[in-house]
Amino acid sequence: MELEIVTIGDELLLGFTIDTNAAHLGRELAALGVRIVRRTTCGDDADSIKAAVRDALERTGAVITTGGLGPTADDMTKPAIASIFGQGMRMDDEILAALRARWLKRFGHELPASNEQQAMVPEGCTILPNRHGSAPGIRLEDAQGRWVIMLPGVPREMRGMLADTVIPALRDRLPTNGPVIRSKTLRTANIAESALADRLGELARGVNGLSLAYLPGSDGVDLRLTSWELEAREANRTLDDAAAQLRAKVGRFVYGESDDDLAALMLAECAARNATVAVAESCTGGMLGMRLTAVPGSSRTVLGGTIAYANAVKTRELGVSAEVIDAHGAVSEPVARAMATGVRLRFGSTIGLGITGIAGPDGGTPDKPVGTVWVAIDNDGEVHAVRAVLPGDRHEIRWRAAQLALDRLRKAFLREQDAEGWTARG
Ligand code: AMP
Ligand code: MG
Repeated sequence: MELEIVTIGDELLLGFTIDTNAAHLGRELAALGVRIVRRTTCGDDADSIKAAVRDALERTGAVITTGGLGPTADDMTKPAIASIFGQGMRMDDEILAALRARWLKRFGHELPASNEQQAMVPEGCTILPNRHGSAPGIRLEDAQGRWVIMLPGVPREMRGMLADTVIPALRDRLPTNGPVIRSKTLRTANIAESALADRLGELARGVNGLSLAYLPGSDGVDLRLTSWELEAREANRTLDDAAAQLRAKVGRFVYGESDDDLAALMLAECAARNATVAVAESCTGGMLGMRLTAVPGSSRTVLGGTIAYANAVKTRELGVSAEVIDAHGAVSEPVARAMATGVRLRFGSTIGLGITGIAGPDGGTPDKPVGTVWVAIDNDGEVHAVRAVLPGDRHEIRWRAAQLALDRLRKAFLREQDAEGWTARG
């Protein structure tokens, strides 16, 4: 099945809002076997919406829109699309009653007149209930079977309705053994794209007839395998087999799959070892602590941290000797080590992580260019440090530094695990 997406909103065209709805729809529908053949974005303007949806209907005959279902004057999706189908608008008493009840319950007062517009629907439409917000979705179909589904713009509501009603309905229309587009991602850290390709050798051009994409980002390089033609079970089997072949070549640079978050994986490893963590952060300014504490259940493992930005704070709060800072500079191996050990001892954790670096854009020197970072880990008294020169702008350097610290933690666990140690890099 082929389908087009039209996302609606001036904020999308202006770039103030990133079109995450189209991305989410693309991922979810591809997994189902629906091919998105075109995406269009238009502003909050009835003529633009009409033109975009009419063109999409003529080309593909199946369209999902998001946005413009709200109560304000810029929300004109429903009448604009109704007019393509030659339909007028009517007030839906059931929706109106539900809106009134919702308002009283949530806000303790009557529904404002402007919100009544949310109960206006095209004649002849199917109403798609919205458990996640106030504006229901709308489905219109013409005599030739061409259809439009209108979903709300608020991403949480859109995702909820997609899962509740749209995907089950589409699944019913698709052949049970039809081809699906399915991907599997291996996440790597601390290895460059070219080095990955070298390791993959023959596999670099594709495995098992699947396409292979290299996706470098601030977390590392993701390797994404995609199956375009196979039915679901065969696709899964082929992807699993190909992923195993890739893992065999890339080895321990692979830290996870799909949406795995290195912080969450490391906390699970810590929990399994009854380890606790404290962080001492200079250039990352709390990013590592933020990533760790973003993981549900982190309070069992994360004790706390210190943002030791100024040298005096490194000395006072973490016990880093002022002489060492003077002799080696704040961005140096001895300082990173002293930060890791200092925070471990002061917080009473089993593991201390220290990060110090130059995030830029200023402050670089010939021997310590912008992006220079020292990361140290003190694992129960065993201290390791690593230096890296990280690429990117200030934000990327900070993010990569936190990711590097997490990867060093991973490496420390691997080192514990196997007596031979892991000397692949660094
Ligand atoms: P609307 O349904 O058009 O009133 O949109 C409600 C809110 O949803 C807007 O303020 C946007 O922040 C958000 N939104 C709308 N469309 C999108 C989209 N395609 N991707 C991500 N967010 C969106
Ligand atoms: Mg809008």
